[in-house]
Amino acid sequence: MDRRGFAAHGSSWLALSCFLASFLIALTANSTEEVPASTLFGLKVKAADLPKHSIGTYSGGCLAGGVSISENGLGFQTMRPSRNRNWAHPMLKGFIEEVGAEVTKRKYAGLLVGDISQPRGGPMAGGHLSHQTGLDVDIWFKPSPSHKLTISDREGISADSVVAGIDWPWVNTKFTDREIWLLKVVAEEPRVARVFVAAPIKKALCENKKIKEFSWLQKIRPWYGHTHHFHVRLTCPSDSAECIEQAMLPDGPGCGAELDWWLSSERTIAKREKKSD
Ligand SMILES: [Zn+2]
Repeated sequence: MDRRGFAAHGSSWLALSCFLASFLIALTANSTEEVPASTLFGLKVKAADLPKHSIGTYSGGCLAGGVSISENGLGFQTMRPSRNRNWAHPMLKGFIEEVGAEVTKRKYAGLLVGDISQPRGGPMAGGHLSHQTGLDVDIWFKPSPSHKLTISDREGISADSVVAGIDWPWVNTKFTDREIWLLKVVAEEPRVARVFVAAPIKKALCENKKIKEFSWLQKIRPWYGHTHHFHVRLTCPSDSAECIEQAMLPDGPGCGAELDWWLSSERTIAKREKKSD
């Protein structure tokens, strides 16, 4: 929980609700049995019945008035329902539905939607550092099949990596023009702040001779993991005064020194793979 963020952004009752959650967690932590915040947020099975509001930072916040994303929609299916991480700010729900519908118009089978947020956002027990405000969503590189998936499919189907290997700075044959097109569609969406991918994917985009216009690459950022899915982060919604944006993106497509650093050594790449988004 980012209490400095809340203090700096006023004391509305919505922000207070998030702060109280962290206070409760602190009290619990002082008792004989320490319970992590991620456990307490993970126990909530429904959204907070409050006006829609993303609060705090992407890696230190929570979500009020979240809405669940349905199992199926035009151009998308959600995966791993047992995790109950299909909760979003309504702006993100609209984004998924609109992009799903858009890609089907262009003959793409559809999106497989991975983790979004818990019903009230907050930290998760395993898997993510961010995804706390209902504004982050993981989308698999593997396209949706045309048929409706069963619950068993949603729990059991594996995502495919598009990177050659954990220590290799290259993509594999599953990273094609189709995946480049999908990343471009998403990155050019005005509500999108950043799209996180593994560094070899960014490298493949920077070196692709078919790409003539590089401005959309600015939002495509290298990060740990992200070999099997890309991670879309939306900007703060206008209804969420306590939502805290990340720093502005550096100018340019990001194909220079920053990317070089991410690809700088086998040892460092392997170390980064242990971290998540
Ligand atoms: Zn993610």
